[in-house]
Amino acid sequence: KEIDIGRLLKYAADRFAMQSEQQGISFALEIPKEVPHVLADPDVLNQVLDNLISNAIKYTPEGGAIQLGLSLNWQQKRIYVSISDTGIGIPKRDLKRIFERFYRVDKARSRSQGGTGLGLAIARELVHAHGGEIAIESEWNEGTTVTFWISFEKRGEGR
Ligand code: ATP
Ligand code: MG
Repeated sequence: KEIDIGRLLKYAADRFAMQSEQQGISFALEIPKEVPHVLADPDVLNQVLDNLISNAIKYTPEGGAIQLGLSLNWQQKRIYVSISDTGIGIPKRDLKRIFERFYRVDKARSRSQGGTGLGLAIARELVHAHGGEIAIESEWNEGTTVTFWISFEKRGEGR
């Protein structure tokens, strides 16, 4: 199905902005005016977004900020989606294993939050199933950015 990821992100922001702000975390959305359509399953992309945004909310203390962004690489025909937070971050030594099933940072701070350690593993599988890639950058005590991309067809430009 040909879908508008920009619109998908707006709906995701609508689903999460209130919850985020109720926890004292600001929530911002940054989307370019024109976003090419992609051939993708909206339910699958929504699950990826839900997993990543709920992590951002879960691991960001009051007073923090979350930014959901979309950017385009026209040469490579890729749509990049990023979810940034100013939360607790992930120690360097855990980063390389963080996409493994059931892997959680062994710290009281994240242990005290419920979870099974599947969210990122599932997000990665779903992004790979769409032919894309996902990556994480994080600084302990500073914040985390998860970025994934999927390809778009030139033919599908959204206008
Ligand atoms: P689940 O998603 O299954 O409910 P979970 O959130 O613990 O549980 P993942 O989403 O796979 O599992 O995340 C794995 C671990 O990575 C988390 O336990 C947490 O330690 C760390 N993590 C994930 N996202 C963030 C983030 N935005 N900020 C800080 N740590 C994170
Ligand atoms: Mg999670």
